[in-house]
Amino acid sequence: MSRTVARRFRRPPGKHLNLNVRGLGDSATIAINDLSNQLRTHGHRVIKLGLGQSPFPVPEPVVEALRQHAHEKDYLPTAGLPELKEAVADYVRRKHGVERSPEDVLVGPGSKELMFLLQLVFYGDLVIPSPSWVSYAPQARIVGRLVQWLPTRRESGWKVQPEDLEALFASDEERPRILILNYPNNPTGVTYRLDELKAIAEVARRYRVLLLSDEIYGELHHTGHHVSIARFYPEGTIISTGLSKWAGAGGWRLGVFIFPPTLDWLRKAMTAVASETYTSTSAPIQYAAVTAFRGSDEIEAYLRHARRVLRAIGRWSARRLREAGVYLEIPAGGFYLFPDFSPLRDRLMRKGVYTSELLAKRLLEDTGVAALPGSDFGRPPEELTLRLAYVDFDGEAALRAAATHPSGALNGTFLKTYAAPIVNAIESIVDWVKHA
Ligand code: GLU
Repeated sequence: MSRTVARRFRRPPGKHLNLNVRGLGDSATIAINDLSNQLRTHGHRVIKLGLGQSPFPVPEPVVEALRQHAHEKDYLPTAGLPELKEAVADYVRRKHGVERSPEDVLVGPGSKELMFLLQLVFYGDLVIPSPSWVSYAPQARIVGRLVQWLPTRRESGWKVQPEDLEALFASDEERPRILILNYPNNPTGVTYRLDELKAIAEVARRYRVLLLSDEIYGELHHTGHHVSIARFYPEGTIISTGLSKWAGAGGWRLGVFIFPPTLDWLRKAMTAVASETYTSTSAPIQYAAVTAFRGSDEIEAYLRHARRVLRAIGRWSARRLREAGVYLEIPAGGFYLFPDFSPLRDRLMRKGVYTSELLAKRLLEDTGVAALPGSDFGRPPEELTLRLAYVDFDGEAALRAAATHPSGALNGTFLKTYAAPIVNAIESIVDWVKHA
């Protein structure tokens, strides 16, 4: 390329960017992972509690199915491989008692992409609780939708309260809206009881709000008791899930939306846009996903042990941090903790820490523990919250060992042996705040 041509393309930064994209950086989860990897490459010791990636391997029967289908090379239908759609419809019937047909299923390259398509195609505000996963709001910004943050309180376990929802919806009853409810929750680790789900469903129905139920951590409910809100608001709920978390296959990029038949117009519109953008999801991965969604005794055993390991780490870590004076919920599912260091504000002030961003930064510098600040999840900057993804350990070894341990809770010795980096990270945090 000639110098003049090169210069013509190198305009002042951002000048020709879509206004909604100007100033947008890499997603917080991706950025912290890149930074952690870079630091490790330069010889620093980093415990990676930033990116929420499953520590466990993909279940062997699913890997085997991928091997068997590596030769599948043709484009598949945009909405997904028919056998996979059937397996997913069976899965929601079997797991949740929600009747859906294969036509109600849309397969995509990760549920993240499907969420983006939804926001693009559906015209309405995005209603999300604070705190919420880092990408919902930026996706809304990219497509130019208004974000309505719904504050939650520490005292109510960071859960959406039906009366707050009611107040928001009643302020403009006819406004089209998407409400995203995610549970077991990223970043807090909490989940909802049956009566709470029913109450939220009732408000959503009263205002005819489109409910996106992000159940990507559903199978990682620590005691295996996840219930879909689609049971209580079937006509307005889209269930979102995928292979990333419960099948340990984040990098495979496979997500699914399960629509109610009442929303077929929306599913069709999303499929049309998908056909003009990514065409279809990777064929071999879809064939392998059939095995995951059909399930088997081996996959159930894998999930049982994965839950035991996560439950033990989550409970131990939460208790240890509580003893150090930090406020946090005992997680009920997934692999996140959302500690609030506000009770230690005076002490942290002495370290020059007065925002969650400074808290994450100083923690990484002083202890090598990489975590994300609460502000990335929509919390006020001065609130001293952090998200810890307790995933930096050898999940394969932990699963194998858990299978040889009698059923029931896994003890401290197990954790010190198989989740040592997490135990060390938590002890480092406790030590760090103690010596502030
Ligand atoms: N959902 C994961 C997280 O919150 C990682 C994947 C992503 O953000 O794209 O860390």
